[in-house]
Amino acid sequence: MTVATERPYEIVIGIETHVELGTLSKMFCPCSARWFGMPPNTLVCPVCLGLPGALPVPNRRAIELSMTAGLALHCEVPEHTKFDRKNYMYPDLPKGYQISQYDLPLNVKGWLEITGDDGSPKRIGIIRAHLEEDTGKLLHGDGYSLVDFNRSGVPLLEIVSAPDMSSVSEALAYADALREILIHAGVSEFRLEEGAARFDTNVSIRFREDGQVRWPPQSEIKNLNSLRALEQAVTFESGRLWEDWQAGGEIRTRKAKITVGWSPETGRTFLQRRKEEAEDYRYFPEPDLVALAPSRETVEHIRSSLPEMPSERRARFVAQYGLSDYDARILVSDPLLAALFEGAVAAGADAKTTANWITGETLRFLRERSVRAAEIPFTAAQLAELVGLIVKREISATIAKDVFAEMWASRKGPAAIVTEKGLRQVSDEAAIASVVDDVISAQAKAVADYRGGNKRALEALFGGVMGRTKGKADPQVVRRVLTEKLG
Ligand SMILES: [Zn+2]
Repeated sequence: MTVATERPYEIVIGIETHVELGTLSKMFCPCSARWFGMPPNTLVCPVCLGLPGALPVPNRRAIELSMTAGLALHCEVPEHTKFDRKNYMYPDLPKGYQISQYDLPLNVKGWLEITGDDGSPKRIGIIRAHLEEDTGKLLHGDGYSLVDFNRSGVPLLEIVSAPDMSSVSEALAYADALREILIHAGVSEFRLEEGAARFDTNVSIRFREDGQVRWPPQSEIKNLNSLRALEQAVTFESGRLWEDWQAGGEIRTRKAKITVGWSPETGRTFLQRRKEEAEDYRYFPEPDLVALAPSRETVEHIRSSLPEMPSERRARFVAQYGLSDYDARILVSDPLLAALFEGAVAAGADAKTTANWITGETLRFLRERSVRAAEIPFTAAQLAELVGLIVKREISATIAKDVFAEMWASRKGPAAIVTEKGLRQVSDEAAIASVVDDVISAQAKAVADYRGGNKRALEALFGGVMGRTKGKADPQVVRRVLTEKLG
């Protein structure tokens, strides 16, 4: 008998993703959009400070990137679209309104594909993706708050999915697929850790009770800024909704959704507001901007310039280079890793060995140093050179790791390092045989043990040879010569 682990309810999830676009300047002014880590209130002007009389000028690049994102997500770009004012008062919103898009967004009716829980491909609908401006940032101290307007006016794309995800793992797969697509399309770097991308997640539960389908109102979990937060918050909130229903709580009578926040410290959600308290944004068309009418030529030009998307690239890596699905997935997760791989292979490196050195040693170095792939200090050609030395057995795998570390530290090419340090592997049988003879006469006990049937004693002798050759002897030749001589 199997234990029923199935939940008594289905989780229904829709995600609104806010992601800053990778432009140099802000949405409606020439201030730099690269705000992260900059001294507070240094990237500001009358427009993004919302001073009276300042007029917005739309950022063409931001509009193009928004359409690029939409087309990469199989959206339609309508012929008529416009900006609207979303009115609300908040300390980080200096104008008292945000320029956004209300009823005519730049992108509608798209989809992206994930692997569903049953293992088969599943399409998640994209209802819309609209362009708006980011707000400033509040920093809370003990008894006071400070506001930094550097982020105010940075172009922000809001991508609204359909409520098509039915589990936490599907929600994570969606977030990951979206991240990959936007990075590959060159739309955004999707820097969750800097708050430049974040998720508002709508969670509800659906189940049968007394022969009827019950689907009580959802909770919107605001501002989740990591995949881990998304995973934990959705798990917690869906469980909480179910418990509240079971206990006859307020969910049984509530008619509208609630907004909650997520506290990573307590691992719980907390109520922010009920629908009845929600603001009326009094949207109206932005009077300082003309309506947008993207020409069909522009749309088709962007569509035809879209780069290869992650799913296509993964499939190609498997087919063209014979990589495992696992390796292809890791390489494609970051376009820079994928480019490093393809660059090295184009320079003549063996595909599988190259993939191993990227997914293994390279990623380990990045992780240990907490840096991004952009900071890899060697070129694809240098990696190809290293792989060539390994494949041709000019250096052993152990030595290769030392060479790799040296490449990272000194930025020198691997062949130069090998020559400089005299690391080239010794495969010459006569040279190895002479060292083997030395070791056999020096380690009489290990020899006796081995001949007496203790096969593990061979390792001591092998270690002796490798030690005397400073790791440079070809291990395969050493093993063969050793076993031959010990007969
Ligand atoms: Zn500005």
